[in-house]
Amino acid sequence: MLLTRLPVNGAKHRPYDLHALSTPPAFTLSQDQTLKEKFALSQDWDNSKNLSFLIVKGLFALSILWFQIFLSSDKIKREELTSFMKRFAIAIDLGATNLRVALISQRGKIFQKKFVPTPQSRSSQVIINEIVSLIQTTIKESRITINQIKGIGISAAAPVDINKGKIVNPPNIPCREISPIETLKKKFHLPVILYNDCAAAVWGEKYFGKGKKYKNIVYITISSGIGGGIISNNRLLLGRSGSAGEIGHFNIAAPYNFPCGCKKGINHWEGFCSGNNLPRFFKFWQKTHNIVPPYRIHNAKEIFDLAKTKDKIVLKFLKEINKFNALGISNVIVAYDPEIIILGGAVVLNNQKIILSGIKNNVEKYLPTPKIVVTSLKNDVSLFGAAALLFWPPN
Ligand SMILES: [Zn+2]
Repeated sequence: MLLTRLPVNGAKHRPYDLHALSTPPAFTLSQDQTLKEKFALSQDWDNSKNLSFLIVKGLFALSILWFQIFLSSDKIKREELTSFMKRFAIAIDLGATNLRVALISQRGKIFQKKFVPTPQSRSSQVIINEIVSLIQTTIKESRITINQIKGIGISAAAPVDINKGKIVNPPNIPCREISPIETLKKKFHLPVILYNDCAAAVWGEKYFGKGKKYKNIVYITISSGIGGGIISNNRLLLGRSGSAGEIGHFNIAAPYNFPCGCKKGINHWEGFCSGNNLPRFFKFWQKTHNIVPPYRIHNAKEIFDLAKTKDKIVLKFLKEINKFNALGISNVIVAYDPEIIILGGAVVLNNQKIILSGIKNNVEKYLPTPKIVVTSLKNDVSLFGAAALLFWPPN
């Protein structure tokens, strides 16, 4: 290395080689090392100053963010600020009685839930227009942008052809087919999915409800009908067209030869135990058991109200219903070997004690009995499911 220095005492200005100096070098190797260490230390010091500055800066930014979050009275704004993921789903639940819509965040919070009575029209376009209008209102009132929405998920209380994206022969709506997907895609430029309500519900349980810890889950609704959604080893079972969970039409070999409401068979579980069929079967049961004078029952609620007054005839009837429910559940257990069965639907939710104890006391023990619980997502389980199917699509 060549260095230059100013001439000293008249010495010629000449370059010199550091190694050729007659005088000893200004520092020894070990001193050099110490200096390097000092230099490194001072660099560390600079780095740590920078790091401290960054940490302070970061903490300052975070405190501003949290300040904004906690001062914000707008719940949706708060959700946006606290969520680093995308964000919201529009969930539609096309039920027998109501058409509902909700804006649901990926963390499982519901915003902007609305409903209208399910239009009783022969024209599917009338139903689709109602869905469009509900979505438009929801987006407008929530003040979120389309970019913040993952998609539109529809859950339908009806047989669904998932391959063709249509609802087929909905039992409680006069039209024969509803194909909402294309219209919604064109209108909102968002992905649109369509599933049967129980398939959606079990997916909702897996991500937002009591199924979080399990790989093998069955969700069963006992409401106006009986249906199921099945997850086997983390996979959603759909079958050929999406109707793999139509467990309400299991034949439970009851001793009555009683026709199911579906008119496709006898002794179907749903034909005895669903909300719509309970009064129908009760009427038949009274005749078979010579109950005189017969009770005039109009709906399932009246039956359960009488049971709560300890009416002996009704309790005898419900003892039989409990056995049928347990037979249905026993079939589910041997068919799917679930770790947990989650029950929902109005009949269960309004009469949890009677239904749950009736099942647990009568279920067959051929396989180890899974946990049997009532949903925590209540009437919104299908809405949660429609959102979960968008956020975490099944394989
Ligand atoms: Zn049936």
